[in-house]
This record gives sequence, structure tokens and C-alpha cells, in this order.
Amino acid sequence: MRIGGLVPFTTIDYPGELAAVVFCQGCPWRCSYCHNPHLLPGDSTRLLEWEDVFEELARRRRFLDAVVFSGGEPCAQKDLAGAIAQIRSLGYKAGLHTAGAYPRRLQQLLPMLDWVGLDIKELPEHYPVLTGAAASGYKAWESLALIQAAGIPFQVRTTLYPDMPDSHVDRLCARLKEMAIEDHVLQSCRPPPPSADTTPQTL
Ligand code: SF4
Repeated sequence: MRIGGLVPFTTIDYPGELAAVVFCQGCPWRCSYCHNPHLLPGDSTRLLEWEDVFEELARRRRFLDAVVFSGGEPCAQKDLAGAIAQIRSLGYKAGLHTAGAYPRRLQQLLPMLDWVGLDIKELPEHYPVLTGAAASGYKAWESLALIQAAGIPFQVRTTLYPDMPDSHVDRLCARLKEMAIEDHVLQSCRPPPPSADTTPQTL
């Protein structure tokens, strides 16, 4: 696991649960408005060792309900399934923040997950302009279909990027409504932190 940071306590990253958030390094996409650009290179300096993070989570298990893997794109990490299994062995619920960049990997992880926060940025055809990756939209929407079919709790989040046309927002919301997506949140675009020094980390 390549870990860029750990938030040891949050009430907002897993609905209804007290959670810690593990920030994974690496993402195949390059959204211009990314809030964590320092986490995007998969080969950037590793800030925390998974063994240390796991020890810290073990120490905190009396005070927390869940661990959320966020990023970057957590599904870019080949060891993610093992890490999820480890935190579940401590009694934690497992949450995942993902943009849906790896639908096949996500499908394998879904039986291990208790909750997913899925970033749906746009309708599929508008993704490449945002992410710089040709098939990104179809992967994200395939991931949405897989999560929905799995029947686990999930939330769809859409970041209103600068100059996102209202017509795009309306069409996106309508498409999700057609799919009977009940939990869809629109969120404002936050500027990225000024430097990697602000990466959340402890230990
Ligand atoms: S998918 Fe998420 S983590 Fe990856 S570049 Fe886009 S906003 Fe950043």
C-alpha cells in the first residue's frame, strides 16, 4: 500500500459513523480541479507505511466505527483488498471513496465493503475533458451500475467544477434519477491545498 496520509478521526467521511480516513497515493486520471494533486503520482514519496497505519488503527478501534480508504484512487492499489481484510479483522466497517476508475477491481472489492462514496463527475461523454482519459466516463458509470447491483449502501457525489454548465448538472441529475439513485449529493469545488505539506497525516 502506498499511503499519503491518515486522518485519524472524522464524522463526515462515512455517513453516520465515526471513521478514520486512509489517503492512498496514485490515480490514473488528472482532473484539473483535484483537491489532492500531491497524491496523484503513484510513485511519489511514500509518507506512511501501511504497517504503522494499521497499528495506529488497531490502537483506536475502541473509539471508531469505520475506516475509509480515499485518495487519489484507492482502487489503483493492488494491495487494497488485503488492507480492507485487515481492518475488518479489527472489527471496523470498511468504506471506500472512489471515482470508479477500475470497475473490475471494484467489483471484486464490493463484497468486502460496507459503504461506498462514488464520485460521478459528469455524463460519460463529458469525462475525457475533465480527466484527460478517453474511456473514463464509461468506467465510472459502469462502476455505478456495479455498486447499485451489489446492493450495499452508497452515495453518489458530484463536484460542481468551475464553469460546469447548468444544463450538464440538470441532465446528470435526471439520469441518476432515472436510475433510481436516492443518495446524490452536489458539492462545491474546493481549491487544492497550496502544497503537499498540508497532506493529512499522523504517526
Ligand atoms: S479522479 Fe479524483 S483523485 Fe483522481 S485526479 Fe480526479 S479528482 Fe483527483
